[in-house]
Amino acid sequence: MKLKISRIIAIVMVFAMLLASFSFASTNVYTVKSGDSLWKIATKNNTTWQKLAKINNLENPRLIFPNQKIKLKDENIEIISKVKVNKVNNVKKDTIVKKVEKEKAEIVIKNGNIYTENSKQEKAQALAIKDGKIIFVGNNNDVQKYIGENTIIKDLKGKTVIPSLMDSHTHPGMVGSSAGNKELAKYQLPRTSKEDMYNYLRKIAKENPDLPFLFVGQWSNKLYGVEGPDRKYIDDIFPNTVVILLDSSGHSYWLNTAAFKAFGIDEKTPDLKEGLSFFVKDKNGRKTGWVKEFALMPYMVGMPMDKEAVAKGTLEYLNFLAKKGVSSVLDCGNFTSEKAVYEVLSKLDKEGKLPVRYEATHHLFMPNQLENAVETVLEYRKKYGGNLLKFNTIKIHFDGVTEVNTAAVLEDFDNEPGNKGGMLFSKEELKNLLLEGAQHNIGVHLHSVGDRAVRTALDAMEEAQKEYGGALPNKLTLSHLEVVNPEDMKRFKELGVIANFTPHWFGGTVFQGGDVALGEERYSHHQPAQSLWDAGALVTFSSDTVSMPGMPRSNPYMGIQMGITRQEPVDGKDTYIHGQISDRMTIEEMIKGYTINNAIQLGIEKETGSIEVGKSADLVVLPKDIFKMDVYDIYKLEPEQVYFMGKSLDLKNK
Ligand SMILES: [Zn+2]
Repeated sequence: MKLKISRIIAIVMVFAMLLASFSFASTNVYTVKSGDSLWKIATKNNTTWQKLAKINNLENPRLIFPNQKIKLKDENIEIISKVKVNKVNNVKKDTIVKKVEKEKAEIVIKNGNIYTENSKQEKAQALAIKDGKIIFVGNNNDVQKYIGENTIIKDLKGKTVIPSLMDSHTHPGMVGSSAGNKELAKYQLPRTSKEDMYNYLRKIAKENPDLPFLFVGQWSNKLYGVEGPDRKYIDDIFPNTVVILLDSSGHSYWLNTAAFKAFGIDEKTPDLKEGLSFFVKDKNGRKTGWVKEFALMPYMVGMPMDKEAVAKGTLEYLNFLAKKGVSSVLDCGNFTSEKAVYEVLSKLDKEGKLPVRYEATHHLFMPNQLENAVETVLEYRKKYGGNLLKFNTIKIHFDGVTEVNTAAVLEDFDNEPGNKGGMLFSKEELKNLLLEGAQHNIGVHLHSVGDRAVRTALDAMEEAQKEYGGALPNKLTLSHLEVVNPEDMKRFKELGVIANFTPHWFGGTVFQGGDVALGEERYSHHQPAQSLWDAGALVTFSSDTVSMPGMPRSNPYMGIQMGITRQEPVDGKDTYIHGQISDRMTIEEMIKGYTINNAIQLGIEKETGSIEVGKSADLVVLPKDIFKMDVYDIYKLEPEQVYFMGKSLDLKNK
């Protein structure tokens, strides 16, 4: 057994105290005489037989025998003798004493099949929890000494334990807000044909003749192609109602003329960012009503919000995640609603209602937000930050998506020659933001779909490191990564840039039109998770859930399964495999990605992410061994027990 230098110093400090205690140690042992009972010994020595049974680990307190040594007091101290020489100080010591705090645990878990995700001690049988922290990880014998009078003992009978999972890119605030928007939940536009959709809209118009405002989704991008929809198709259905129809990618809107009038949009209204956020024009230069990405955002600031409904919806979503064993989330943005959302969350945090650690972000989607970005995070830290709600990240919608040809790609889109998409900021701007964030430990999390966005971000980090003179203290995470140029793969490791994926999308069913835009070759290498892992990148996983109807898909076990299979779970083993077979991950990688790697991305790896002494007791007890079970059944897993900061969650009640 090797002692670390830092521990030796601590040990020397308590040395004097130990010597004093040592002299008492031998008087605290009683030798059993014939006719003794534990009860008798206890009464004579001013204690209880229960205490003696615990201190001495007596399985049957009735069974003691003559000459048996019974400890009367729990020794707080153990002496380890004859540890050799403290070479650093060249001081010879014959004895180095180690203080072993035999603290009693609140909870002891034994007979477990524990996967720790701690590379120094990968498996364990038992662990002990006190004050929300793990105080012991090891075997069934050694955990005994942590069992005190009030310790709750959980015999797992061989069940599997893993560290809690995390969701390192999701949108609880948006899920909560979507629950507050009754219309969005009420209507679902059919995607079968254009005619089906117009008929559906006519039905809504007929049933609600005086409707002032309609905001629903989601129409199919694929049906309308590169040219896109036009307001003239819906103006006759809704001549007066202000209509905003969200598309199936969630990255563009279709407005009618009444909406143009209401927002004051005319032919002179400028675009927000070329190639990314803009009003689509027809051959004659007329705005068609198709609005890509965030060009509409400046007009949506004043949208009303029912805070109670948002709180209720957000909590429902967070509780859903918590019961799946998710202990921490990164909120990757709430657009114009972020202040309202964080106000709601701050209140929930103060009331002790948050069931997870909540890392929040300041969300950039318009060019003019760059200037005050860092300042805003600092302001949020002060104003909303609390016990579980933290602000350490700027989220940027750096490029768009492949479904509406707004992702920044190195080669033109297949279905639109001359278009390479767009980016919100330049390399220089991103570099400066990284350097500014470094001063306050504010990380940057990028929505980066296309290979040009990925390369630009890597270049920005490379230049930032040159200017900084080494690795930055703050992190850069690239999320989505639908297309990554093979030449850039190894740069993630070199630059310490984190690769975040949503394996829930690896079935390929959520991308409508991305295949047409990218073309067969690029699309066949979609979301190269294993390739990046093999290139040494730190890979992390998340659900990227944005609305209440999407909540079931934020199930992390679904993500784990889809990371391994790259197939839709409900369709079975023989269904379509998305992307490259060689990009299938292993179960070991998936669990690492969802636990310790996610913790590193969130900057909380010292606090949680593995089952290790000193870390928060965030654990999941599973009914099956997730590492050995049929991969195609993983998505059905339901935890039997979830511990968050040492407290067992009530999995039955809402
Ligand atoms: Zn997202």
